[in-house]
Amino acid sequence: MTLSQLELPASLNYVGLFLTLECNLSCSYCINDPEQSGQRSVLFPIKVKKQRNSLTPEEWVVALNRIPFREDLPITLQGGEPMLYWKKKGLGVILSDTTHYFDLLTNFALKPEVFVSHLNGQQEKLKRNAPYPSIRVSYHADEMNRTWQGKGFSELVERCASLSNFGFRVSPNKAESDVGIYMVAHPQNHVTDEMKEAYDGRVPFETKEFLGVEDGKLHGHYLYPFSTDLISSNIHPHTLRCECRTTELLLDPLGFVWGCHYYLYQSWVEGGPVRQFEVLEVHGFRFSEFGEKIFADHKLVPVGHILDPEFTMKDLEAFHACEQYGRCIGCDTKIKNNRFQSYYDHGIPHTSVQIRNIEMPESLYEKIENLEQARQFFKTEAS
Ligand code: SF4
Ligand code: SF4
Repeated sequence: MTLSQLELPASLNYVGLFLTLECNLSCSYCINDPEQSGQRSVLFPIKVKKQRNSLTPEEWVVALNRIPFREDLPITLQGGEPMLYWKKKGLGVILSDTTHYFDLLTNFALKPEVFVSHLNGQQEKLKRNAPYPSIRVSYHADEMNRTWQGKGFSELVERCASLSNFGFRVSPNKAESDVGIYMVAHPQNHVTDEMKEAYDGRVPFETKEFLGVEDGKLHGHYLYPFSTDLISSNIHPHTLRCECRTTELLLDPLGFVWGCHYYLYQSWVEGGPVRQFEVLEVHGFRFSEFGEKIFADHKLVPVGHILDPEFTMKDLEAFHACEQYGRCIGCDTKIKNNRFQSYYDHGIPHTSVQIRNIEMPESLYEKIENLEQARQFFKTEAS
């Protein structure tokens, strides 16, 4: 099966492919947890597989070959733990039969020699000239120390460093390294002297801003007021209505395209759209024709399906009504750079989603910093 090529809008900033939401670890504040509070294993229990919960590698090849190759736009493989996808054997097929460059977000669950053996010799697809490493390894202190008998960080550094034996560039300079280690700067996480000694001069290491509420304090900088903490900080009793669109192509394990991380994660916390997928498959994945009926009465409705012959990127460019404002995931509404460094170089804040017509209650106005600036995002009589 081949499908027509998609026309990528210039505004598309990121392609995220959640290969699987299964994970070998159970971090206490998992990135996939909309509430940032539960243990991963409780949120996404690995169930006995009765229904399909991912596309096959061959289906992904068809899907990804619709996306035109762009040197500056890698497809980011993520999860869960993407190296576990398809009994650990799916990645090689995808890398072999597509032309793209890929980035990989991983916790390095497999030993390096096992990981590399599953790449089908396609290391080049995970290497490109970029200011940061394409293989971004996340460090999770508690879970990794539990798994590797108290040696979590040093084991991770060794695994990363040993990739130099398998055709990857490993350098302490992140612009010259295909692999780097990242840790969320959660208030409970600390960079110890022992850690510094382990990575220094060997592998790039950086901390990433923690996005969420901890001990009643909101961490991170967000463009839209209360977008992530309206509910978690008890600012208001219910979420708000608004209109929203994304600048990212987010694909879940079954190939559904989602309008933001909250919709994607929450749909999988609720078990994933596995039944809807079964029905859609019978209808040749034609979401544009059958999606509305299949997802009738569902709050969390995807934007489309990547194997739908009629899917176009225009489906993502349109603003969609949303009633979940206030539960947004920090990575969607935090202020950041786009891939042209818009914020640092030109002072133009970029966010992964654009939100308008927020039905913000006037009773909350007094709590909003920069109210005058924020008003442009609120619904007015005229809008
Ligand atoms: S490694 Fe990542 S996906 Fe897995 S439990 Fe930890 S934060 Fe969640
Ligand atoms: S407003 Fe928030 S929850 Fe709704 S679609 Fe946008 S990012 Fe997602």
